[in-house]
Amino acid sequence: MSRHRTESIENDALGFLRRADALSVPIDLVKVARLLEVSVHHETLEDEVSGVLLIKGPERHILVNQAHHPNRQRFSIAHELGHLVLHHKDGDRLFVDTHIKLYQRVGAPSSKVYTEPGSATTPQEEREANQFASALLMPAPLLKQAAKERDLWDELDVSALASMFAVSEQAMAIRLQQLQVVDSVLMMEPNRKSAGAFHELH
Ligand SMILES: [Zn+2]
Repeated sequence: MSRHRTESIENDALGFLRRADALSVPIDLVKVARLLEVSVHHETLEDEVSGVLLIKGPERHILVNQAHHPNRQRFSIAHELGHLVLHHKDGDRLFVDTHIKLYQRVGAPSSKVYTEPGSATTPQEEREANQFASALLMPAPLLKQAAKERDLWDELDVSALASMFAVSEQAMAIRLQQLQVVDSVLMMEPNRKSAGAFHELH
């Protein structure tokens, strides 16, 4: 993903958080969903399905797998909001996400609903939806502020930050790494080792 696209997604997420008056941790996704006129339903879904975005006329529904860990459900909801904001142009559409992986899409072609016409997304769209979800749940200004008082690279503190933002430790670790690298890129230090890691992740 280009840096320009990444920054644009970060700004989109921050804008929605401000408009929804939701720029405090943990992020209240209900407020964001309300702003975007989306109904969120916690449902029994096939285990491999994390989230579904259904757009039909003026109706917007997100179905999230209630059997999954609450933090995972939050990421799934934020991911589907990303598809809505970034990838929905017009017309009815169905997005079905199986096994949302951070920065990596792993499709499960066996899922019938996944193969419905109109449900297909590109790997680029999946990366963008994940980027939006990270930016929405772990907004850079709030995370940097929280991290200032801690040692970013201490595993225990990653865990504390993760519970503070109600996200998985994996999602938090990736986000911390990304933000540090974004900073280092902005400071024009292209030779830092972490810059390479950033490109590999994306
Ligand atoms: Zn997706």
